[in-house]
Amino acid sequence: MNWTDVFASRMERMKASEIRELLKLLDQPDIISFAGGIPDPALFPAEAFQAALADALSPANQGTALQYSVSEGYGPLRDWLATHMQGLGVACSRDNILITSGSQQALDYLGKLLLSPADTALVSWPTYLGALGAFNAYEPQYDRLGAGGNRSAADYAETAQAKGGRVKFAYASVDFANPTGETLDLAARSSILDLAEDLDIAVIEDAAYQALRYDGDPVPSMLSLEIERKGSIEDCRTLYCGSFSKTLAPGLRVGWVCGASQVISQLVLMKQAADLHSPTLNQMAIATVAAAHFESHTAMLRRVYAGRRDAMLAALATHMPEGVTWNKPEGGMFVWLTLPKHLDAADLLRLSLETQRVAFVPGRAFFADGSGANSLRLSFSLAGDAQIDEGMRRLGVAIRAAV
Ligand code: PMP
Repeated sequence: MNWTDVFASRMERMKASEIRELLKLLDQPDIISFAGGIPDPALFPAEAFQAALADALSPANQGTALQYSVSEGYGPLRDWLATHMQGLGVACSRDNILITSGSQQALDYLGKLLLSPADTALVSWPTYLGALGAFNAYEPQYDRLGAGGNRSAADYAETAQAKGGRVKFAYASVDFANPTGETLDLAARSSILDLAEDLDIAVIEDAAYQALRYDGDPVPSMLSLEIERKGSIEDCRTLYCGSFSKTLAPGLRVGWVCGASQVISQLVLMKQAADLHSPTLNQMAIATVAAAHFESHTAMLRRVYAGRRDAMLAALATHMPEGVTWNKPEGGMFVWLTLPKHLDAADLLRLSLETQRVAFVPGRAFFADGSGANSLRLSFSLAGDAQIDEGMRRLGVAIRAAV
């Protein structure tokens, strides 16, 4: 059978990247990898989950835990999240919250909700690769958010129209972004909200790393800033996507969307049609562990990851040759490195895997327009201090060899 003839047109946009092929090599034990942007499994609250799962499967609770449940999500978890969001300055109730299977599902649903083919999504250059992957299924065009220039709303609208659609949303990974580690300051958040007002579009606030701030002052979420402007979440255009993946356990696939109940109701219909609901057992376990341990557990994560970030920044200062620059993230898992202009990080990855046995993610995949060849992402979440120093030493050798 000629499958390509029957695949839907959206599949043309869904290609495995060349980088994924390279990164398959990373299982080899002698490679030091800074590629995977994943939590350290040694830090999972495994014992708390053991107890929570045992409780969910006890005779009193197993009928709920193993049964179908509502598409909105497990009530006690939505209540905990409403309180959590209130702590972030977002006055809301459980009606403003939908539980999703990770925040990745929220990105898929929001793409599905908002994008017709040829509509424009505004994203930063670079942006979270998984967001581009989720949105690509809905065949959008991309335009650059916050390029530093002073582009007017009218200019964005005309550009989108010329591409055959209209601007539908601005997407931003706001805190310690994947891939850059950068945080949008108050002015940047306000100006995205201004632009969204002018264009009358939605804002997707991706707050996956929100709880992982190691220093500096917290910046209010875009949703909380918009509530300050409007008075009520029901009048807001910002849709906040949260996740337990970076704080408790990514394998349980529990995230949430918080926003105006009118939008949440639409997303509930989508969830019903797609997978009925997120696994009840997982939601119950997350609700129990979050209620008892969220604060203490995230405080521990912040201490450990802050140490690794510091180790990476120190190692970079020691080992990087002149002409290489990097940022100093206040949280999250990533440092973004910029190489001299003529270097291509994908070529460097081949060289450094072969000769130095060190891995990272080349930056180009994070750019919707395919630029950014001389950038790369380093993750400090998995490695110990000594490994970080040795890894950066090896990366320095590879870069010197490539120059
Ligand atoms: N947003 C960002 C910025 C991420 O880095 C990730 C995970 N890599 C996600 C969303 C999705 O995470 P999850 O589906 O596990 O919540």
